[in-house]
Amino acid sequence: MEYQWIKNKRYKNVSIRIKEGQIIVTSPTQTSKDFVDAFVQDHRQWIQKHLVAYDAIPRIHPGMTLFLLERPYTVMEGNVCAIDSEEETITINGNEKHWQALLKALAQKQITPRFRQWEQAMGYTGLTVRYGYYASKWGSCRKDTGSIAINTKLLFVDWEEVDSVLVHELCHMKYPNHSQAFYQEVLEWMPNYWKVHKHLIHRSIPIFEQKG
Ligand SMILES: [Zn+2]
Repeated sequence: MEYQWIKNKRYKNVSIRIKEGQIIVTSPTQTSKDFVDAFVQDHRQWIQKHLVAYDAIPRIHPGMTLFLLERPYTVMEGNVCAIDSEEETITINGNEKHWQALLKALAQKQITPRFRQWEQAMGYTGLTVRYGYYASKWGSCRKDTGSIAINTKLLFVDWEEVDSVLVHELCHMKYPNHSQAFYQEVLEWMPNYWKVHKHLIHRSIPIFEQKG
């Protein structure tokens, strides 16, 4: 099995993770190649399971139907990266940066009005909302600066799931923690929060693979 090996004196143990379909091993500086090889062998099953799961994630490709906030779009190939809401088409050009910029613009246009509705309903004003393509968080909140960051991957889920993240982050303006009081507040605004959240965390978000 081929793997990427990162040695660093800060690491205390040998560990394996799978990142974007690659096996990455981290170890302390003095660890030997034999040890790492054996370690990878011992964890073969775990690695296989995660590689298979990664392969099962849908890839964005021309001809597919992509759902963005519950609306179906046909993906086409072209020279630009653009969305046509009337024709319900998305054109991709193989450039991941362009794709992420498109998602950001789309999130600003579609998710921000929803954010403002919740902000007002929950009694806040003047909060900042920004968007990013994050690997492992749906959103984050900074109470001190009044700013909330939202993952553009939420474009690929349903509105109710978007709401669950907006409510969650807005509740952090009052409780900057995950205390019982925090979740009570969340449930007050969204009684079916846990059901929706469970659905969200099991989502498989389609990924864009850069060409060439
Ligand atoms: Zn939180």
